[in-house]
Order: sequence, then structure tokens, then C-alpha cells
Amino acid sequence: MAFWNVTSVSGGKDSTAMLLLAIERGMPNLLPVFADTGHENPQTYEYIAYLEKALGISIRWVKADFTADFKRKRAFIAEKWPEGIRERGMKALEKTTGIPFLDLAMLKGRFPSTKAKFCTGHLKLLPIQQQVEMPLLKAGHKVISWQGVRAEESPDRAEMPMTEMLDMGVIAYRPLIDWKVADVFEMHERHGIEPNPLYKQGMSRVGCMPCINARKGEVREIALRFPEEIERVAEWEALVREAAKRGCATFWAARGETDVSLEKHGIDQVVSWSRTTRGGRQFDLIASTEPSQCSSVYGLCE
Ligand code: SF4
Repeated sequence: MAFWNVTSVSGGKDSTAMLLLAIERGMPNLLPVFADTGHENPQTYEYIAYLEKALGISIRWVKADFTADFKRKRAFIAEKWPEGIRERGMKALEKTTGIPFLDLAMLKGRFPSTKAKFCTGHLKLLPIQQQVEMPLLKAGHKVISWQGVRAEESPDRAEMPMTEMLDMGVIAYRPLIDWKVADVFEMHERHGIEPNPLYKQGMSRVGCMPCINARKGEVREIALRFPEEIERVAEWEALVREAAKRGCATFWAARGETDVSLEKHGIDQVVSWSRTTRGGRQFDLIASTEPSQCSSVYGLCE
């Protein structure tokens, strides 16, 4: 029996600082894990590779696989969906794309939202639990799950203890709970590690691009600097629409609208709206005055 220190590395500043802290303390059985959503900016993937090289470590990549879920959903569609849309649904879910975020949205027939935040659990939490922590526990080991959350990020996080026993017997450890942003960047500096370059490109957070929790200003910034990410999501909207029973799925939900369509509410329209200085919150985006933060209380996204 051994204690394993599983540290989730997202490519963001907090999880990187936490990894550096674990290395600094010489933690034995250190197991850094990156849960790939398939919806990250390429610079984040490069940053994970940079960390491996600069620190001389290897970071385990895990990815959710929805192959079995697609099969089950196809059987469900074959039995329950009415003729006329059944064929469309069956065809859309013929096989997975191998991109976890997209596959999950196709499976659900919708994108996650600020009200239905199923992305972190399915794309980050579960793959780490199922592919890393469970096998260690089953082999008789103990698992310490290092979580890069900080109290100042939100009232919920401020309530979190530094250590806690979670389900399955995993011990949560939150060494950054009392850290400030300055401490996080100071840790990078002390180890001669560059923060993710996206922070120098107008991004206040690193994670999915865009995140469902993006603010209006962030959408504008992403569209300006990384138009290819917007194009990719526009293509995903068209794919998810095919898998949606109602025949429509927009990346951000349209608030209070009954006649929702990609043409009126798709990501291209959200980008146009993000460029306006005023206007109602007709899209499900976080208001610009609210802090941008991941929905994961485990800090898995940022
Ligand atoms: S970064 Fe945002 S979109 Fe991605 S899994 Fe986390 S909450 Fe969901």
C-alpha cells in the first residue's frame, strides 16, 4: 500500500502552481493528470508539453470515451424517437468523433450551460476518477487528490477545508486554499516556469475555449484573437443539431426565446452581440461584472 498524490493539471495558473508546490515538497508517488476535453486552445496542449519538458516529468493524459453511451443512445433512439427524426438521430450518433466535449454534447443533444453544468463532471472529474484514482484504490493504495482551488475565487470555495475525506475514500487536499493570485504567479517565477501564454493574450482564465461560463468580453476577445475557435464551435453546433431531438442546439442557450435557431442564436450571433457595448442578456453568458470562474468546485477546469 502506498499513498499516491494525484494532481490535476489543467494548464491554468493555479493547477500549475499546485504542481510546482508538490514538486518543491518532494512528494512521493506524484501523479500529475491532464483531463483533455478536446475543447482547449492548442496553446494549452503545447503548455502541458512544455511543463513536462521543463520539469522533467510526465503528465498522464486522460480522455472521456463515449463509445458505449453512443451505442445505448442509438438503441434508445431506434425505439423511442418518432419516424421522421429517427434516421437523423441514428445517423448523427453512428460513431463518436473522439472529441470528448463534442461527443458529450451530441450524446446529450445539447451543449452544457450555466444551468446544466454537466461538462466538468463528465469530461474531467469522471475520467480522472475512473482511469486514475479507482485503479489505484482497487490495487489497495490510498489516493490524495490535490485540488487547486483558492478561497478568494468564490464564496463556495471560501467554505472549503484544506483537507477532506471524499467518496470512494479519496482524500482531498487543497494546499492553495489561502493563496492569492500573486502567490500563484510567484510560484511560477520561483521555479522559472512561464505561465500559460494565453494569460498574456487577453484571457483571464484557461480551460475550454470558449468555456460555457465565459463573459461577454471574453467572447469578444476570443473571437478577435482566435477566430478559428469560433469557427470550430460553429461547426460543432451544426453537428450537435443533428443529434438533438428538437433539431437545434446552440453553444449558449438563448434566454427566454421560443423560436431558437442557429441562424439567430448560434455562436456567430453571440460573437456579433459580444461586440456591442449595450444590450440585453439574451444569451446565457455570465454578466461582465461577475467573476469568471470554472463551475468545478474541484478546480479541475482552471
Ligand atoms: S472549462 Fe468550462 S466548458 Fe470546460 S469543462 Fe470546465 S466549466 Fe465546462
